Amino acid sequence: EPAVEAIDVVRSYDLGAGRVAALRGVSLRIMPGDHLSIVGPSGSGKSTLMHLLGGLDRPTGGELRIGGRDIRTLTAPELADLRNRTIGFVFQSFHLLPRTSAVENVALPLVYRGTGARQRRARAVETLTRVGLGHRLDHRPNQLSGGEQQRVAIARALVTDPAVLLADEPTGNLDSVTGESVLALLEELNTERGVAVVLVTHDRSLAARTRRQVIIRDGLIATDSPVPPRAVAA
Ligand code: ADP
Ligand code: ADP
Repeated sequence: EPAVEAIDVVRSYDLGAGRVAALRGVSLRIMPGDHLSIVGPSGSGKSTLMHLLGGLDRPTGGELRIGGRDIRTLTAPELADLRNRTIGFVFQSFHLLPRTSAVENVALPLVYRGTGARQRRARAVETLTRVGLGHRLDHRPNQLSGGEQQRVAIARALVTDPAVLLADEPTGNLDSVTGESVLALLEELNTERGVAVVLVTHDRSLAARTRRQVIIRDGLIATDSPVPPRAVAA
C-alpha cells in the first residue's frame, strides 16, 4: 500500500479577482522505501504538492491518502496527529529554534506525542548520533555550521520514525561540498533505514541523484519515471 497517494489532486487558490490552480490534477504514489525527486521550475507547483503530500494543506479537488486514510475524513487535529506519526519535513532554511540546543530541537516533536523527558532525550541523542552529530548535542544553532544545522533538522524530522521524509531544497543554503554530504545522508537513510525520501528541487542535477524522478510543469506531472529524463524520448 502507498505511504502517501494523490489521486487527481487539484489545489487552487482564491485570489479575490479569480482563482489560480497551482495543481491541476496530480496523481502520485509514494511507496514505502521510495527514493524520488519532484523537480520542476519555479512556480510549477512543487511546494504546493509537498505541503499536500505532507498533510500540511488539503486539496480543493481529488483525493489524498496518507497511510491509507482519505484525509477528507479527518478533522484538523486528526490530520495533525497522522502527519506527526507518518511524515518528517526538512526545509531549505533549517527552521531550528535559535536559543535551543541541538538535542532539545530534535526532542521537540516527541513533546507533542507525550513522550517522557528521559526517553525524549535518549531518542534525540540516538538520532543525532545517527546523523553524525553525537559530539554536538548541546550546541545551539548559531554554534553550528550550515551543514550541521541541516543535520539537526534531519534528526528532528527522523526522531518520530516517519515512513516518509519530505525534503524541500534541503541543500539550497549550503555550499556544494556540504550539500553533497547532506544528500549522501538522505541516501543512506533511504537505503539503510528504508525511509521513503522525497527530494523537492528545481535543480535537475540533484534530481538525477534519486532513483525515481517526477517532473512537474504548470501544475501537472509531465514525467514520472525511474529512468533519467534525458533518456526518455521527447
Ligand atoms: P514552486 O514550489 O514550484 O515554485 P508553488 O507551489 O509555490 O510552486 O506555486 C505554484 C503556483 O501557485 C504559482 O503560480 C504560485 O504563484 C501559486 N501559489 C502558491 N501559493 C499560493 C498562495 N498561497 N496564494 C496564491 N497563489 C499561490
Ligand atoms: P564551517 O567549517 O562549516 O564553516 P564553522 O567553522 O563555523 O563551520 O564551525 C566549525 C565547528 O566549530 C562546527 O562544528 C561548530 O559546531 C563549531 N563552532 C562554531 N562556532 C561555535 C561557537 N560559537 N561555539 C561553539 N562551537 C562553535
